[in-house]
Amino acid sequence: MRLSRFFLPTLKETPAEAKIVSHRLMLRAGMIRQESAGIYSWLPLGLRVLKNIETIIRDEQDAAGAQEILMPTIQSADLWRESGRYDDYGKEMLRIEDRHGRDLLYGPTNEEMVTSILRDCIKSYKQLPVNLYHIQWKFRDEVRPRFGIMRCREFLMKDAYSFDLDLEGAKRSYDNMFAAYLRTFARMGLKAVPVRADPGAIGGDMSHEFHILAETGESAIFYDAAYDEMTLDMDNPDVAALQSIYAAEEELHDPEKCPVADDRLKQARGIEVGHIFFFGTKYSAAMGLVVDGPGGERITPEMGSYGIGVSRLPAAIIEASHDENGIIWPDSVAPFAVGLVNLKVSDEACVSQCDDIYDRLRDAGIEALYDDRDERPGAKFADMDLIGLPWQLVVGPRGVAAGTVELKRRAGGEKEELSLDSALEKLTG
Ligand code: ATP
Ligand code: MG
Repeated sequence: MRLSRFFLPTLKETPAEAKIVSHRLMLRAGMIRQESAGIYSWLPLGLRVLKNIETIIRDEQDAAGAQEILMPTIQSADLWRESGRYDDYGKEMLRIEDRHGRDLLYGPTNEEMVTSILRDCIKSYKQLPVNLYHIQWKFRDEVRPRFGIMRCREFLMKDAYSFDLDLEGAKRSYDNMFAAYLRTFARMGLKAVPVRADPGAIGGDMSHEFHILAETGESAIFYDAAYDEMTLDMDNPDVAALQSIYAAEEELHDPEKCPVADDRLKQARGIEVGHIFFFGTKYSAAMGLVVDGPGGERITPEMGSYGIGVSRLPAAIIEASHDENGIIWPDSVAPFAVGLVNLKVSDEACVSQCDDIYDRLRDAGIEALYDDRDERPGAKFADMDLIGLPWQLVVGPRGVAAGTVELKRRAGGEKEELSLDSALEKLTG
């Protein structure tokens, strides 16, 4: 993509309303735009990151055996009356009336709907276990939307729902998602801390939140230093070992009963990027989901639900990975792999060198953002650092004469003068 044609409305000034670094950087880098309180448009640069995050999540959900569906954003109030949550959910639920006077709502979550799908579609124990997920927009009328897309009203969530015949199976499904979550966040360059959590409005017996440590995190978490000392094999994380390490969210942390010695107890701020719940037959029983067992007995399936804040993740990643000049995207979620910078667009040799590199990168399957604008080098470097692409490939008249390009790694800032071939080799790995 040529930067001269790319819709990238960057801001020079720091927007005054943005209180945390991810919000400031997302606005400055032209990733998002607020439409009304807690409701955002995603501009091209931001949407590319969001899509990459979605792809990693989808990949790991599929690998874990969950199957993708797509449920609507608008739901019938009657479904929620069946579970009793229509009245319980309160003001966070956006309630709508259609032209026939029927009560609808913009879904804040989908337990009721997915339970009704299973109720209508399965009859026998042979059809279980099953885990269905979707990636869909949610609406929660938060009292205080803030921090940009971190806590907004309309947001994208991945929510999965597991159905099992018995408790043992349900615990297996839970642990399976637990492991998938660790892998998912690790692939985004994040170390997520799983902490015991309050099941909240979803209700239930067992629940973990996954937190990214950051000073700006909204939650206070307490955990055993053993977690930091543990080496995790992300391909095959030891779920039982992790669940046995003490880690709890503020509301569940009781200093009196905490088993960890004071000098081993760590306190940190965390951004909740995922939340998993086991809640037994809460919805299946209330909504009459039953299957026939092997001996003709009636079985009420055990359920769990598993959420990831898809649209919160770009902000969480920025909170965990930035410097004073801007964002530092991990390779796996970066909007483009490389920024190709032409320092002198009035120089024909520079232009033809850059055009050639751009073609070769594309042929190698590497997406580059090509800064072909007529701007000062300083402004180009500042923009590249701000938007945080993992690599910068810089072409100027001196290098062209010497047969070299400059390759800079955004993360550490290291620069190397390389022949074009070695630079391309480095980028293609
Ligand atoms: P929180 O405690 O942050 O309000 P929650 O417990 O209400 O979240 P869940 O029902 O567990 O949220 O939703 C699953 C995930 O969706 C959360 O872990 C979070 O990452 C994300 N999420 C929830 N509410 C919002 C929001 N208002 N804006 C952006 N993401 C959100
Ligand atoms: Mg939660």
